[in-house]
Amino acid sequence: MKAKKKFNYKNLIDYVGTHPYKVSMDASTFCQLNCPLCPNGKYRLKDTVIGRGYLKFENFKKFLDQNPNIRIIELANYGEVFLNPDLRKILEYSNKKDVRLTIFGGANLNELDEKTAEAIIKYKLRGLSVSIDGATNKTYKIYRKGGNFNRVIKNIKLINKYKKIYHSEFPLLFWQFVIMGHNEHEIPLAKKMAHKLNMTFSPKLNWDSSFSPIKNLDFVKKQVGIENISAEDFEKENKLPYLLTCFQVWESPQINWNGELLGCCVNLKKNFGNVFEEGLEKCLNKEEYKKVKDFLLGKTNMNVLCSTCSAYKTILENPLKKRDLVQYIINAMKTNLSNSEIKKILDNFSFAFYQNIRIRIDTQKILGKIGIVVKRISPRLYFKLKKIKEQTEK
Ligand code: SF4
Repeated sequence: MKAKKKFNYKNLIDYVGTHPYKVSMDASTFCQLNCPLCPNGKYRLKDTVIGRGYLKFENFKKFLDQNPNIRIIELANYGEVFLNPDLRKILEYSNKKDVRLTIFGGANLNELDEKTAEAIIKYKLRGLSVSIDGATNKTYKIYRKGGNFNRVIKNIKLINKYKKIYHSEFPLLFWQFVIMGHNEHEIPLAKKMAHKLNMTFSPKLNWDSSFSPIKNLDFVKKQVGIENISAEDFEKENKLPYLLTCFQVWESPQINWNGELLGCCVNLKKNFGNVFEEGLEKCLNKEEYKKVKDFLLGKTNMNVLCSTCSAYKTILENPLKKRDLVQYIINAMKTNLSNSEIKKILDNFSFAFYQNIRIRIDTQKILGKIGIVVKRISPRLYFKLKKIKEQTEK
């Protein structure tokens, strides 16, 4: 029997960083649309480490069988999940293994056949965020080039039909609306439609505000209830990059469709081994991967991954604080996992560790500060996960 480790924050970070309960695994890097700001439009990624392909069922099955710690898998990163021909089998097997799947990274949902619609309800896909930047086809197709608004709405109705048949509240549906100058006037209508379709309206800032910039700031602020209406405003106020995804390296490592470990979702240039061939733990323990973590925590200024990232300068000047990372990991565990799942992770540590975490969690509860870091880094994700957890516990 393995000796239990004593509690300290380094052990906590190291443990979760090498035995994650969650990973992000791109189910497909194929996409049928050509959105102007998407790195994957017109397969611009084909010559990067991402390449073109889809997650095969045999690999997915092997991964789940070899990694019983994994409880949650996010399926969307660069491509359209619904173009994966093995998706139904993937859903069925994850349900059998009691592993929760989500598509929060966004789906354009232009393609959905009847059988897949039924499978996502039957096998309990937990959450689905649909990218719909407009409330009419005329506006929608300005950005979602090659897509069709009416087809997307039809597919949402199809999902709702099966939710009704199976009396299921899953998947929780989100209407992701990237706010731009050409679609801002349709926000009120989109909100109404989202409500009617039993979707949570989820507005999002455009990461490149020079593309179709917002025209009426006051109107948009009033409509969506957020103060920082551009990524630049957000960064100025929070002193953090708007798209800060670095915590992912520990909490939900990104894996490409072919099993290559990427670490974070913006990585286009380097892999850290293949988890399908070498195993997840071995890849996460590689020296080069550890150097990425060291860089993010300010222990070194060099690594093979981050030097060309838009967040590089910020991280170099303001490395992640260990305190924030610990807080993020604890809050993410609490948001994502049931008490028994948390206990299973904590059982790998000595009693002192468990007690310490309990105290931290209870204190946060009393002070009402749960999720403060998760909320700051990714408010949308926080609310989505929180809602899923509440629904799961009902
Ligand atoms: S700084 Fe590194 S870990 Fe963070 S998002 Fe950029 S490439 Fe990823």
